[in-house]
Amino acid sequence: MKPRNRDKLYIYNRDNKECFFCGKKLKFKQITLDHLLPLSKGGTNDIFNLVTSCKKCNKIKGNSILKGIDKIILELFMQAVKDNKIIGKGLNIDNNTLKEQLLEIDRIEDITDKFIFQSDNMRFYVKNNKVVKVVYLGGLK
Ligand SMILES: [Zn+2]
Repeated sequence: MKPRNRDKLYIYNRDNKECFFCGKKLKFKQITLDHLLPLSKGGTNDIFNLVTSCKKCNKIKGNSILKGIDKIILELFMQAVKDNKIIGKGLNIDNNTLKEQLLEIDRIEDITDKFIFQSDNMRFYVKNNKVVKVVYLGGLK
C-alpha cells in the first residue's frame, strides 16, 4: 500500500520541503518518501515512519537503518499527535482525551512488529496512523 497523497504533502511540509538526509531543498514533485524502518524490515507507511528524501539519498540509504531511529520516530510521532494526525480506531475514548494521553508518551516500546509507544502508565499500539489498542499499565496518577 502506497502512502496517500495527502500524507505525502503533510510529510513534505513537516520536513521543511527539504531532504531529511542532505538538507537539499526540493520541489514537491521531486521528492521520494523514505521509510525510516524499511518495509523489508517490518516498516509501515505510517507518517512517522516516512521522511522526505531526494532520490539520491533514498537510493544510498536503501534498506539500512539509521542510528537513533527510535528517537527520530518518536519525535515524528509526537509531531503527528500535535498536528492531530493520529486518531483512535475502535477505542471507547474520544480523540481529544486520546490526544492528551498520547502527549504523555515519552518512549518507544517496540518497532519490530508494530509500533508501540508508551507513557508512564499507558501503552499505545499504532497502525496506519491510528491508535488501535490502548493498554493501561496500572497505577493512576
Ligand atoms: Zn538528499
